[in-house]
Amino acid sequence: MVQLRLIFLGTSSSVPTIERNLSSIAILRGEELLLFDAGEGTQRQMLKAGIGFNRKTKIFITHFHGDHVIGLLGILQTMAMLNRDKPLDIYGPRGIAGFINYNSNYLKFELTYQVRIHGVKEGIVVKEKDYVVKACPAEHSVRDYAYLLEESDRPGVFYPERALELGVPKGVLWSKLQDGESINLGDKMITPHQVLGPKKPGRKIGISGDTRPNPRLSKFFSKADVIIFDSTYGQEYEDKAKDRLHSTAVEAAHVARDAGANLLILTHFSARYSDTSELVSQALKVHPNVMAASDLSVVDVPYRDSYD
Ligand SMILES: [Zn+2]
Repeated sequence: MVQLRLIFLGTSSSVPTIERNLSSIAILRGEELLLFDAGEGTQRQMLKAGIGFNRKTKIFITHFHGDHVIGLLGILQTMAMLNRDKPLDIYGPRGIAGFINYNSNYLKFELTYQVRIHGVKEGIVVKEKDYVVKACPAEHSVRDYAYLLEESDRPGVFYPERALELGVPKGVLWSKLQDGESINLGDKMITPHQVLGPKKPGRKIGISGDTRPNPRLSKFFSKADVIIFDSTYGQEYEDKAKDRLHSTAVEAAHVARDAGANLLILTHFSARYSDTSELVSQALKVHPNVMAASDLSVVDVPYRDSYD
């Protein structure tokens, strides 16, 4: 069991408000931090959320608009001031290396740790032992990527009586089978599927970046446990959403419904909305499970036994 916790560090679009900082979403997966976007002031929000600056960390940038990326510089500098010693991985659209290298040189960060910069293209961006992060082009005024954190399937339920019937003694061999490894017993091989029930799904979290809704994103986010989606406007500003290449709450709900997602979390609100309950009401007419993110709100994402 790995804990998966979403912490919304910034939920405003383009300008901050008294209640809302600029865009940033932290996913704590076990001890690792996956940070999506870093609007100005993200480092203070990280402090308030108690996230810390010396974890194993990957930072993903959706696009190069200031409200999503300027905070990266403060994070880099603070990590250096605090003598971070672990490498830091940063992923972003073309230009990410230039942005970081130019500012690092110009501002003389004197980094105490290695920064590994990765240009993002459509497809798998990160492949770890038990999860991947994928990117899909979003639809905005500049190159912009939506991301999907997708955990690997988990082994099914272990049936000890089947293991005993096959002559596998209790102990380390049971653990190997439970972890999905085949074992050799004398001259026969025992495979995990002989002693385990069907595999159970891992969790999927989708993050839209700034975008118009479209079928490609619904497909990309298919069966996600949670979709965090651009909800800059309410229905009354549908035209503005189109003009500025953002989404309304209702449009976000259509993507979540078409994707068959479990929970839709609205974020990236225009500063005109100090109360987002109307946006949630609008979205609830389309998708049954909707909430609005607020700064420092926390959502724990449980495992599901199946997608049915
Ligand atoms: Zn934005």
